[in-house]
Amino acid sequence: MTLQPQRQILVVFPHPDDEAFSSAGTIRLYRNMGVPVTYACLTLGEMGRNLGNPPFATRESLPEIRREELKAACEVMGIEDLRMMGLRDKTVEFEDDEKMVKLVKDLIDELNPSLIITFLPGYAVHPDHEATARAVFETVRRMPKGDRPTIYAVGFANNTIADNGEHNLQIDVSSVKLDKVKALQAHASQTAWMIEENAKRTDDGQPMSDSWLHYERFYVINLED
Ligand SMILES: [Zn+2]
Repeated sequence: MTLQPQRQILVVFPHPDDEAFSSAGTIRLYRNMGVPVTYACLTLGEMGRNLGNPPFATRESLPEIRREELKAACEVMGIEDLRMMGLRDKTVEFEDDEKMVKLVKDLIDELNPSLIITFLPGYAVHPDHEATARAVFETVRRMPKGDRPTIYAVGFANNTIADNGEHNLQIDVSSVKLDKVKALQAHASQTAWMIEENAKRTDDGQPMSDSWLHYERFYVINLED
């Protein structure tokens, strides 16, 4: 299917690498069409558990490493407008609700996005993910009808499909699969182990299929109620 035309896309995730797993291919496809994309990354993922073995980072150096990885991933995806919002990793869930809504509202007021890509509330697994999704949905709900951007929501809890049905948007990103891989690789501090594991793993003696790289799946949400 062809991509819906967009005026401006706003991507809102709490951690560097959330965007690479969920939507790097979709972002790259839209950038290839010339659609402006702003990525508001709320934290630097500085509490990431993975410091390497042997350690490649300390608690002190990890934020700087992840900042550079994030910039490299954005370059691969073609994102020219990266906003590092400066919240603290693992504390987004404790931020004041109104502060979070204001953060999202300020971005929407400035950018007037036609589409927001974020997590699906209730199905985002991690507390920071949930807090991010809640803030985006609440902000959009408060906007006047007719002005509300469409949301492409990413859910990956085990019960996502049981509760919500199949995703109603599946974007074929196979033409930019290598860019998605490169975006994942750019977040090496978090993804190197996974890429290695995937390469080692086999399915019935065959190398694992890379079909998970071919499609990105979303729930298209129009909050018009
Ligand atoms: Zn995350």
